[in-house]
Amino acid sequence: MDLRILGCHGGETAKHRTTSFLVDGRLALDAGATTAMLTLEEQVALDAVVVSHAHMDHVRDLASLADNRCQSAKHPLVVAGTRATIKALKEHFFNNVLWPDFTVIPLVGGGGTTVELRVLEPEVPQEIAGYALRAVLVSHTIESAGIVVEREGTALAFSGDTGPTDRFWEVLSELPGLKAVLQEVSFPNELEWLAKISGHHTPSTLERELLKLDRKDVPWLMFHIKPAFQSAVERELAKLHQDRLEMLSLGDEFVL
Ligand SMILES: [Zn+2]
Ligand SMILES: [Zn+2]
Repeated sequence: MDLRILGCHGGETAKHRTTSFLVDGRLALDAGATTAMLTLEEQVALDAVVVSHAHMDHVRDLASLADNRCQSAKHPLVVAGTRATIKALKEHFFNNVLWPDFTVIPLVGGGGTTVELRVLEPEVPQEIAGYALRAVLVSHTIESAGIVVEREGTALAFSGDTGPTDRFWEVLSELPGLKAVLQEVSFPNELEWLAKISGHHTPSTLERELLKLDRKDVPWLMFHIKPAFQSAVERELAKLHQDRLEMLSLGDEFVL
């Protein structure tokens, strides 16, 4: 499984992109940077985007992605998420007000509609784009899901936006093929009150999560740091003395 980091921050600047990861060039996890970081050919090659939750920093590029693919793609883009996420996309995003409803607009060259929305029932594996995808509800201000991606015995987990949570770690503990966890952390320890009310982590709350997955061999790839707090959060993460925590940079690539 090839993993490419398209966006790994909780905010955007000229040097930071919001959450998006690319698996094998055909499956995107969240759409915070799927057009900002991909060529038109790479956008057309996508089969599906799994969305952890409906917040704008995770869905924003679905707008430009759908528009670009409408003119160039040969098959619909599957956009998958839990029920509340799909409902929010339908009502507030592809609603013919904020953006055209690409779930009914056909591809210019034929082959179906531009976007096909797909509901993931929590913890029920669903085959999409050749992967078994599982959504596990986590703890955020709106419905948010961690996503487990599995193919041929290899598994990648993505926490979505979340504060402290339990079920996600229980599911991961039972995954022998787990190769990496994309894990959110957003604010420095002094803003734990803000992390708490906004459903995010600080290095300190993350330290308690590390106890919930007893797999020292599995790297935790850190994303969603707010750009303003990059160095503070990095310093505090380093003080945890956990070799399994890895910082991410735009464009990083991993083979899992
Ligand atoms: Zn969020
Ligand atoms: Zn976010």
